[in-house]
Amino acid sequence: MDANFDQLDELREAGLARVHAAADSDALRLVEREFLEKGGVVAALLAEIPKLAPEKRREGGQGANQLKTAIQNAIGEKREALLEASLMVEAGGGSFDPTLPAAPMERGSLHPITQVTREVEEIFQSMGYTVLDGPEVELDFYNFQALNIPADHPAREHQDTFWCDHEQNLVLRTQTSPVQIRAMETLEPPFRVIVPGRVFRNEALDATHEHTFHQVEGLVVGEDINVGQLIGTLKSFLTEVFQKETDVRLRPGFFPFVEPGFEVDIRCPFCDTGCKVCSDTTWVEYCGCGMVHPNVLRAGGIDSERWSAFAFGMGLDRLVMMRNKIDDLRQFMGGDLRFLEQF
Ligand SMILES: [Zn+2]
Repeated sequence: MDANFDQLDELREAGLARVHAAADSDALRLVEREFLEKGGVVAALLAEIPKLAPEKRREGGQGANQLKTAIQNAIGEKREALLEASLMVEAGGGSFDPTLPAAPMERGSLHPITQVTREVEEIFQSMGYTVLDGPEVELDFYNFQALNIPADHPAREHQDTFWCDHEQNLVLRTQTSPVQIRAMETLEPPFRVIVPGRVFRNEALDATHEHTFHQVEGLVVGEDINVGQLIGTLKSFLTEVFQKETDVRLRPGFFPFVEPGFEVDIRCPFCDTGCKVCSDTTWVEYCGCGMVHPNVLRAGGIDSERWSAFAFGMGLDRLVMMRNKIDDLRQFMGGDLRFLEQF
């Protein structure tokens, strides 16, 4: 476009029309270059000023600057309008209103295992227990040896245990009990702790077996600890959890780390006279427990002449299953929202 002071008005109209018609930022950029940049219309006008008659120069300079400002402003406004329009398209149509309140966000819920874990922690904390945590990848020493599980014990066989590294004797812990030893090493008796956590077994999967499940372990170390206290503790806990007086029954059970050891059955929470869950016996196997074996106390660096202890371990998955009438353990790790949304 030629730069001519006689045509300032026409130049302005033409420039503004071009800005107005620009459909996108590329078109706008082109107008900007043509009018405002080096070698553009305004620059050409300014270059002409010295050739004007002296009395016309001032007027010429003003005219060129007014043209420049007008085009600049128009480009700025158009650029904003284009941006806004593109945001509206992104927002899904021309009706985007940034002042409207945001759509509600769905928050989801805690996993049923997390819920029950917190509940169990609260119950035991109210009884003076401390909640402990421990490593999920554990040394052979803590997972087996120190728990009185010698090298030839069936629990160590490969089909039950995920070995991470044979040379370093690392396993995925098969129980939460290793934390008992870690607790004994670090705490001064008397103390009472619980250890909730994930455990792992290399097992064939079915409705009652999973490679990953959850336990809570309890350990009480003190002077003259006895079986009566153990039973009393479990009964108060179960009464809290099931929100009703719960009968328990003890049968002898063998666990290498306790002596004597017991299997604890509880009254079937589903029936009075027998059902599928309890195989018509009205009793359901619930947890293992016992008086801690002196070898285990010694492995944890505790004087077994002076101190005695009881321990118990139970399945958290099993607890949720019993309370909510769930019959397949695999649901917990399945990640199926139809299942999880019910909690
Ligand atoms: Zn039953």
